[in-house]
Amino acid sequence: MTLAPPPRGDGAGATSPAALYVHLPFCARRCPYCDFATADLSAALEARYLDALEAEARARLPAGFAPRTVYLGGGTPAELTTAGIARLVAWLGPLARGAAEVTLEANPRTLLPRKLRALRAGLGVDRVSLGAQSFQPRLLAALGRVHRPEDVPRAVALARAEGVAQVSLDLMFGAPGQTLAEVDLDLDAALALAPDHLSVYCLTWEEGTPYALARDRGALRPRSAGWEARAYARVRARLRAAGFVHYEVSSFARPGRHARHNTVYWRSLPFVGLGNGAASLLDGARLTNVRDPAAYADAVLTRGGAAAVAEVEVLPPARRLREAAWLALRTSHGLEPARLRADAGLDPAPLAADLERLAGWGLLARRGARWVLTGRGVTLADAVGRELLREDDEAARAEA
Ligand code: SF4
Repeated sequence: MTLAPPPRGDGAGATSPAALYVHLPFCARRCPYCDFATADLSAALEARYLDALEAEARARLPAGFAPRTVYLGGGTPAELTTAGIARLVAWLGPLARGAAEVTLEANPRTLLPRKLRALRAGLGVDRVSLGAQSFQPRLLAALGRVHRPEDVPRAVALARAEGVAQVSLDLMFGAPGQTLAEVDLDLDAALALAPDHLSVYCLTWEEGTPYALARDRGALRPRSAGWEARAYARVRARLRAAGFVHYEVSSFARPGRHARHNTVYWRSLPFVGLGNGAASLLDGARLTNVRDPAAYADAVLTRGGAAAVAEVEVLPPARRLREAAWLALRTSHGLEPARLRADAGLDPAPLAADLERLAGWGLLARRGARWVLTGRGVTLADAVGRELLREDDEAARAEA
Protein backbone atom coordinates (compact mmCIF):
# COMPACT_ATOMS: atom_id res chain seq x y z
CA MET A 1 0.00 0.00 0.00
CA THR A 2 1.27 3.51 -0.81
CA LEU A 3 0.16 6.97 0.16
CA ALA A 4 -2.79 8.31 -1.81
CA PRO A 5 -2.60 10.44 -4.98
CA PRO A 6 -1.13 13.86 -4.38
CA PRO A 7 -2.87 17.12 -3.62
CA ARG A 8 -1.84 19.70 -6.20
CA GLY A 9 -2.30 23.36 -6.75
CA ASP A 10 -0.02 24.96 -4.16
CA GLY A 11 2.51 25.99 -6.77
CA ALA A 12 4.79 28.79 -5.77
CA GLY A 13 7.95 30.53 -6.79
CA ALA A 14 11.00 29.73 -4.71
CA THR A 15 12.28 33.22 -4.03
CA SER A 16 9.69 35.04 -1.89
CA PRO A 17 8.20 33.60 1.31
CA ALA A 18 5.00 31.70 0.65
CA ALA A 19 3.79 31.40 4.22
CA LEU A 20 3.77 33.12 7.59
CA TYR A 21 3.91 31.32 10.93
CA VAL A 22 3.11 33.28 14.10
CA HIS A 23 4.03 31.67 17.40
CA LEU A 24 1.90 32.42 20.47
CA PRO A 25 3.45 30.45 23.33
CA PHE A 26 0.90 30.69 26.14
CA CYS A 27 -0.61 27.48 27.54
CA ALA A 28 -3.03 26.98 30.42
CA ARG A 29 -0.80 24.15 31.63
CA ARG A 30 2.26 22.45 30.24
CA CYS A 31 1.67 18.89 29.04
CA PRO A 32 4.36 16.55 30.41
CA TYR A 33 5.35 15.15 27.00
CA CYS A 34 5.67 18.54 25.28
CA ASP A 35 8.96 20.21 24.40
CA PHE A 36 7.55 23.14 22.44
CA ALA A 37 8.60 26.70 23.28
CA THR A 38 5.69 27.52 25.57
CA ALA A 39 4.97 29.94 28.43
CA ASP A 40 2.62 29.96 31.40
CA LEU A 41 -0.27 32.41 31.17
CA SER A 42 0.86 35.86 32.33
CA ALA A 43 -0.77 39.19 31.51
CA ALA A 44 2.53 41.03 32.00
CA LEU A 45 4.48 38.72 29.70
CA GLU A 46 1.65 38.71 27.15
CA ALA A 47 1.81 42.51 26.83
CA ARG A 48 5.59 42.49 26.38
CA TYR A 49 5.44 39.53 24.03
CA LEU A 50 2.89 41.19 21.75
CA ASP A 51 4.99 44.37 21.67
CA ALA A 52 7.96 42.26 20.61
CA LEU A 53 6.00 40.28 18.02
CA GLU A 54 4.83 43.46 16.33
CA ALA A 55 8.34 44.92 16.39
CA GLU A 56 9.74 41.71 14.90
CA ALA A 57 7.12 41.80 12.14
CA ARG A 58 8.01 45.40 11.31
CA ALA A 59 11.71 44.59 11.16
CA ARG A 60 11.68 41.24 9.39
CA LEU A 61 8.72 40.98 7.00
CA PRO A 62 9.58 42.00 3.46
CA ALA A 63 7.88 45.11 2.07
CA GLY A 64 4.62 44.21 0.35
CA PHE A 65 4.64 40.72 1.93
CA ALA A 66 1.46 38.86 0.99
CA PRO A 67 1.55 35.36 2.48
CA ARG A 68 -0.64 32.76 0.82
CA THR A 69 -1.10 31.01 4.14
CA VAL A 70 -0.94 32.13 7.76
CA TYR A 71 -0.66 29.74 10.70
CA LEU A 72 -1.21 30.75 14.33
CA GLY A 73 0.54 28.09 16.38
CA GLY A 74 2.04 27.68 19.79
CA GLY A 75 1.48 27.17 22.59
CA THR A 76 -2.21 27.83 22.44
CA PRO A 77 -2.94 31.01 20.46
CA ALA A 78 -6.53 31.32 21.66
CA GLU A 79 -5.22 31.64 25.25
CA LEU A 80 -4.47 35.29 24.43
CA THR A 81 -6.64 37.68 26.38
CA THR A 82 -9.37 39.54 24.51
CA ALA A 83 -7.21 42.66 24.62
CA GLY A 84 -4.25 40.65 23.32
CA ILE A 85 -6.29 39.36 20.39
CA ALA A 86 -7.30 42.93 19.51
CA ARG A 87 -3.64 43.96 19.50
CA LEU A 88 -2.64 41.00 17.31
CA VAL A 89 -5.46 41.69 14.87
CA ALA A 90 -4.43 45.34 14.51
CA TRP A 91 -1.13 44.60 12.74
CA LEU A 92 -1.63 41.03 11.47
CA GLY A 93 -5.13 41.59 10.07
CA PRO A 94 -4.11 43.40 6.88
CA LEU A 95 -1.61 40.60 6.08
CA ALA A 96 -3.80 37.67 7.03
CA ARG A 97 -7.02 38.80 5.38
CA GLY A 98 -5.45 38.40 1.91
CA ALA A 99 -4.29 34.84 2.59
CA ALA A 100 -5.92 31.79 1.06
CA GLU A 101 -5.81 29.85 4.34
CA VAL A 102 -5.57 31.08 7.93
CA THR A 103 -5.24 28.36 10.56
CA LEU A 104 -5.73 28.68 14.31
CA GLU A 105 -4.45 26.00 16.69
CA ALA A 106 -6.77 25.66 19.66
CA ASN A 107 -7.36 23.65 22.79
CA PRO A 108 -10.87 22.14 22.78
CA ARG A 109 -11.58 23.34 26.32
CA THR A 110 -10.38 26.91 26.08
CA LEU A 111 -11.66 27.93 22.63
CA LEU A 112 -14.29 30.54 23.51
CA PRO A 113 -16.95 31.96 21.15
CA ARG A 114 -15.94 35.61 21.62
CA LYS A 115 -12.29 34.88 20.91
CA LEU A 116 -12.97 32.76 17.84
CA ARG A 117 -15.36 35.44 16.57
CA ALA A 118 -12.72 38.14 17.00
CA LEU A 119 -10.04 36.06 15.29
CA ARG A 120 -12.35 35.21 12.41
CA ALA A 121 -13.45 38.78 11.90
CA GLY A 122 -9.99 40.27 12.33
CA LEU A 123 -7.75 37.70 10.69
CA GLY A 124 -10.09 35.68 8.50
CA VAL A 125 -9.41 32.42 10.37
CA ASP A 126 -10.98 29.76 8.17
CA ARG A 127 -9.33 26.65 9.56
CA VAL A 128 -9.23 25.48 13.18
CA SER A 129 -6.91 22.72 14.33
CA LEU A 130 -8.05 21.24 17.63
CA GLY A 131 -5.69 19.29 19.87
CA ALA A 132 -8.08 16.47 20.72
CA GLN A 133 -5.31 13.82 21.16
CA SER A 134 -7.70 11.23 22.67
CA PHE A 135 -11.32 10.79 23.73
CA GLN A 136 -10.49 8.50 26.66
CA PRO A 137 -10.60 10.30 30.02
CA ARG A 138 -7.82 8.18 31.49
CA LEU A 139 -5.50 8.84 28.53
CA LEU A 140 -6.20 12.57 28.56
CA ALA A 141 -5.36 12.56 32.28
CA ALA A 142 -2.18 10.57 31.66
CA LEU A 143 -1.18 13.02 28.92
CA GLY A 144 -1.76 15.93 31.30
CA ARG A 145 -4.28 17.58 29.00
CA VAL A 146 -6.54 20.28 30.41
CA HIS A 147 -9.58 19.26 28.36
CA ARG A 148 -12.14 16.48 28.72
CA PRO A 149 -13.52 14.30 25.91
CA GLU A 150 -16.81 16.23 25.77
CA ASP A 151 -14.94 19.49 25.09
CA VAL A 152 -14.01 18.29 21.60
CA PRO A 153 -17.54 18.04 20.12
CA ARG A 154 -18.36 21.36 21.79
CA ALA A 155 -15.36 23.04 20.12
CA VAL A 156 -16.12 21.44 16.74
CA ALA A 157 -19.74 22.64 16.96
CA LEU A 158 -18.55 26.12 17.91
CA ALA A 159 -16.16 26.30 14.95
CA ARG A 160 -18.90 25.13 12.58
CA ALA A 161 -21.45 27.54 14.06
CA GLU A 162 -19.02 30.43 13.61
CA GLY A 163 -18.59 29.55 9.94
CA VAL A 164 -15.08 28.07 10.05
CA ALA A 165 -14.70 26.26 6.73
CA GLN A 166 -12.30 23.54 7.84
CA VAL A 167 -11.91 21.71 11.13
CA SER A 168 -8.92 19.51 11.78
CA LEU A 169 -8.37 17.22 14.78
CA ASP A 170 -5.03 16.13 16.21
CA LEU A 171 -4.98 12.58 17.57
CA MET A 172 -2.13 10.86 19.33
CA PHE A 173 -1.40 7.17 19.76
CA GLY A 174 1.27 5.40 21.77
CA ALA A 175 0.50 6.77 25.25
CA PRO A 176 1.71 4.38 27.95
CA GLY A 177 -0.82 1.62 28.51
CA GLN A 178 -2.97 2.54 25.51
CA THR A 179 -4.63 -0.45 23.87
CA LEU A 180 -5.48 -1.01 20.22
CA ALA A 181 -9.15 -1.07 21.26
CA GLU A 182 -8.67 2.47 22.61
CA VAL A 183 -7.11 3.54 19.31
CA ASP A 184 -10.29 2.30 17.65
CA LEU A 185 -12.47 4.14 20.15
CA ASP A 186 -10.58 7.36 19.48
CA LEU A 187 -11.02 6.91 15.73
CA ASP A 188 -14.75 6.20 16.22
CA ALA A 189 -15.17 9.36 18.26
CA ALA A 190 -13.15 11.51 15.86
CA LEU A 191 -14.96 10.24 12.77
CA ALA A 192 -18.33 10.83 14.43
CA LEU A 193 -17.47 14.55 14.40
CA ALA A 194 -16.95 14.55 10.61
CA PRO A 195 -13.71 16.54 10.59
CA ASP A 196 -12.24 17.80 7.32
CA HIS A 197 -8.75 16.77 8.30
CA LEU A 198 -6.96 14.61 10.86
CA SER A 199 -3.33 14.76 11.97
CA VAL A 200 -2.45 11.52 13.73
CA TYR A 201 0.88 11.31 15.54
CA CYS A 202 2.68 8.69 17.52
CA LEU A 203 3.78 10.01 20.92
CA THR A 204 7.44 11.01 20.84
CA TRP A 205 9.49 10.87 24.01
CA GLU A 206 11.37 14.16 23.84
CA GLU A 207 14.48 14.13 26.00
CA GLY A 208 14.27 16.29 29.10
CA THR A 209 10.46 16.32 29.30
CA PRO A 210 8.78 14.99 32.46
CA TYR A 211 7.55 12.05 30.37
CA ALA A 212 11.04 11.08 29.23
CA LEU A 213 12.40 11.49 32.77
CA ALA A 214 9.63 9.24 34.12
CA ARG A 215 10.50 6.65 31.45
CA ASP A 216 14.19 6.83 32.42
CA ARG A 217 13.41 6.01 36.05
CA GLY A 218 11.05 3.22 35.03
CA ALA A 219 7.81 4.93 36.03
CA LEU A 220 6.42 4.98 32.46
CA ARG A 221 6.83 2.31 29.82
CA PRO A 222 6.60 3.24 26.12
CA ARG A 223 4.61 1.03 23.83
CA SER A 224 6.76 -1.27 21.71
CA ALA A 225 7.71 -0.45 18.11
CA GLY A 226 5.59 -3.41 17.02
CA TRP A 227 2.54 -2.07 18.86
CA GLU A 228 3.08 1.38 17.32
CA ALA A 229 3.29 -0.14 13.83
CA ARG A 230 0.03 -2.04 14.43
CA ALA A 231 -1.69 1.08 15.73
CA TYR A 232 -0.51 3.14 12.77
CA ALA A 233 -1.67 0.46 10.33
CA ARG A 234 -5.08 0.54 12.03
CA VAL A 235 -5.24 4.34 11.76
CA ARG A 236 -4.37 4.27 8.06
CA ALA A 237 -6.80 1.50 7.20
CA ARG A 238 -9.71 3.02 9.09
CA LEU A 239 -9.27 6.56 7.84
CA ARG A 240 -8.85 5.46 4.25
CA ALA A 241 -12.00 3.35 4.58
CA ALA A 242 -13.77 6.45 5.89
CA GLY A 243 -12.87 8.39 2.74
CA PHE A 244 -9.81 10.28 3.93
CA VAL A 245 -6.85 10.83 1.63
CA HIS A 246 -3.58 9.85 3.31
CA TYR A 247 -1.48 12.62 1.81
CA GLU A 248 1.42 12.86 4.27
CA VAL A 249 2.80 10.38 6.78
CA SER A 250 0.78 11.87 9.68
CA SER A 251 -1.91 13.74 7.72
CA PHE A 252 -5.30 12.64 6.41
CA ALA A 253 -7.77 14.88 4.59
CA ARG A 254 -11.13 14.74 2.93
CA PRO A 255 -10.51 15.24 -0.80
CA GLY A 256 -9.38 18.81 -1.43
CA ARG A 257 -9.05 19.60 2.29
CA HIS A 258 -5.29 19.15 2.74
CA ALA A 259 -3.38 21.69 4.84
CA ARG A 260 -2.00 24.24 2.42
CA HIS A 261 0.29 25.83 4.99
CA ASN A 262 2.10 22.59 5.83
CA THR A 263 2.52 21.89 2.13
CA VAL A 264 4.87 24.88 2.04
CA TYR A 265 7.12 23.12 4.58
CA TRP A 266 6.96 19.78 2.81
CA ARG A 267 7.97 21.40 -0.48
CA SER A 268 10.84 23.29 1.16
CA LEU A 269 9.40 26.60 -0.05
CA PRO A 270 10.50 29.77 1.79
CA PHE A 271 8.51 30.84 4.83
CA VAL A 272 8.81 33.29 7.71
CA GLY A 273 8.21 32.45 11.36
CA LEU A 274 7.69 35.13 13.98
CA GLY A 275 7.82 34.72 17.76
CA ASN A 276 9.91 32.80 20.26
CA GLY A 277 11.46 29.60 18.95
CA ALA A 278 9.97 30.14 15.48
CA ALA A 279 11.94 28.95 12.45
CA SER A 280 12.16 30.57 9.02
CA LEU A 281 13.54 29.27 5.73
CA LEU A 282 14.82 32.11 3.60
CA ASP A 283 17.38 32.15 0.79
CA GLY A 284 18.60 28.66 1.62
CA ALA A 285 19.22 29.52 5.28
CA ARG A 286 17.36 28.32 8.34
CA LEU A 287 16.79 31.04 10.91
CA THR A 288 15.81 30.16 14.46
CA ASN A 289 14.44 32.66 16.95
CA VAL A 290 15.33 33.04 20.62
CA ARG A 291 13.54 30.14 22.29
CA ASP A 292 12.59 31.43 25.73
CA PRO A 293 9.51 33.72 25.50
CA ALA A 294 10.73 36.28 28.07
CA ALA A 295 14.26 36.33 26.61
CA TYR A 296 12.77 36.76 23.13
CA ALA A 297 10.72 39.76 24.28
CA ASP A 298 13.73 41.26 26.07
CA ALA A 299 15.99 40.84 23.03
CA VAL A 300 13.52 42.45 20.63
CA LEU A 301 12.44 45.28 22.93
CA THR A 302 15.99 46.26 23.84
CA ARG A 303 17.85 45.58 20.57
CA GLY A 304 15.19 45.75 17.86
CA GLY A 305 13.11 43.29 15.85
CA ALA A 306 16.04 41.68 14.05
CA ALA A 307 17.40 40.53 17.43
CA ALA A 308 14.60 37.95 17.49
CA VAL A 309 16.81 35.69 15.38
CA ALA A 310 19.24 33.74 17.55
CA GLU A 311 20.77 31.50 14.90
CA VAL A 312 21.30 31.63 11.16
CA GLU A 313 22.32 28.35 9.64
CA VAL A 314 23.33 28.53 6.00
CA LEU A 315 22.60 25.00 4.90
CA PRO A 316 25.14 23.36 2.57
CA PRO A 317 23.46 22.29 -0.69
CA ALA A 318 23.99 18.60 0.13
CA ARG A 319 22.11 18.96 3.40
CA ARG A 320 19.34 21.09 1.89
CA LEU A 321 18.93 18.46 -0.80
CA ARG A 322 18.55 15.59 1.65
CA GLU A 323 16.23 17.48 3.97
CA ALA A 324 14.07 18.59 1.05
CA ALA A 325 14.04 15.05 -0.35
CA TRP A 326 12.95 13.62 2.98
CA LEU A 327 10.19 16.20 3.45
CA ALA A 328 8.92 15.51 -0.08
CA LEU A 329 8.98 11.74 0.43
CA ARG A 330 6.73 12.10 3.47
CA THR A 331 3.96 13.28 1.16
CA SER A 332 1.78 11.35 -1.24
CA HIS A 333 3.18 13.40 -4.12
CA GLY A 334 6.57 12.06 -3.20
CA LEU A 335 9.90 13.27 -4.48
CA GLU A 336 9.79 14.74 -7.96
CA PRO A 337 13.33 15.69 -8.94
CA ALA A 338 12.18 18.37 -11.41
CA ARG A 339 10.04 19.99 -8.73
CA LEU A 340 12.94 19.93 -6.28
CA ARG A 341 14.92 21.89 -8.81
CA ALA A 342 12.09 24.35 -9.52
CA ASP A 343 10.96 24.88 -5.92
CA ALA A 344 14.25 24.84 -4.05
CA GLY A 345 16.86 25.25 -6.80
CA LEU A 346 18.51 21.96 -5.84
CA ASP A 347 20.27 19.51 -8.16
CA PRO A 348 18.80 16.08 -7.31
CA ALA A 349 21.55 14.04 -9.06
CA PRO A 350 23.57 13.22 -5.88
CA LEU A 351 20.53 11.43 -4.46
CA ALA A 352 20.17 8.91 -7.26
CA ALA A 353 22.21 6.08 -5.72
CA ASP A 354 20.47 6.41 -2.32
CA LEU A 355 17.03 6.37 -3.88
CA GLU A 356 17.90 3.25 -5.89
CA ARG A 357 19.21 1.56 -2.75
CA LEU A 358 16.07 2.39 -0.75
CA ALA A 359 14.00 1.11 -3.68
CA GLY A 360 16.05 -2.11 -3.62
CA TRP A 361 15.06 -2.54 0.02
CA GLY A 362 11.40 -2.21 -0.93
CA LEU A 363 10.94 1.14 0.81
CA LEU A 364 10.59 3.39 -2.26
CA ALA A 365 9.00 2.94 -5.68
CA ARG A 366 9.01 4.93 -8.88
CA ARG A 367 5.72 6.45 -10.07
CA GLY A 368 6.53 8.02 -13.44
CA ALA A 369 8.73 11.04 -12.69
CA ARG A 370 8.29 10.69 -8.93
CA TRP A 371 9.65 8.55 -6.10
CA VAL A 372 7.13 7.58 -3.43
CA LEU A 373 7.22 5.57 -0.20
CA THR A 374 5.88 2.04 -0.60
CA GLY A 375 3.48 0.68 2.01
CA ARG A 376 6.50 -0.76 3.85
CA GLY A 377 8.24 2.59 3.45
CA VAL A 378 5.29 4.39 5.05
CA THR A 379 5.40 1.99 8.01
CA LEU A 380 9.16 2.46 8.30
CA ALA A 381 9.11 6.15 7.38
CA ASP A 382 11.34 7.19 10.27
CA ALA A 383 13.96 4.67 9.19
CA VAL A 384 13.84 5.97 5.61
CA GLY A 385 14.39 9.49 6.95
CA ARG A 386 17.28 8.37 9.12
CA GLU A 387 18.89 6.62 6.16
CA LEU A 388 18.61 9.66 3.88
CA LEU A 389 19.82 12.10 6.53
CA ARG A 390 22.58 9.72 7.69
CA GLU A 391 24.15 10.10 4.26
CA ASP A 392 24.06 13.82 4.92
CA ASP A 393 25.86 13.39 8.26
CA GLU A 394 28.54 11.30 6.59
CA ALA A 395 29.01 13.91 3.85
CA ALA A 396 29.28 16.67 6.46
CA ARG A 397 31.93 14.67 8.34
CA ALA A 398 33.86 14.09 5.11
CA GLU A 399 33.72 17.83 4.28
CA ALA A 400 35.02 18.65 7.77
S1 SF4 B 1 -1.19 22.50 24.94
FE1 SF4 B 1 0.16 21.92 23.22
S2 SF4 B 1 1.81 23.43 23.21
FE2 SF4 B 1 0.77 23.62 25.19
S3 SF4 B 1 1.96 22.30 26.55
FE3 SF4 B 1 0.30 21.01 25.75
S4 SF4 B 1 1.13 20.02 23.90
FE4 SF4 B 1 2.53 21.73 24.45
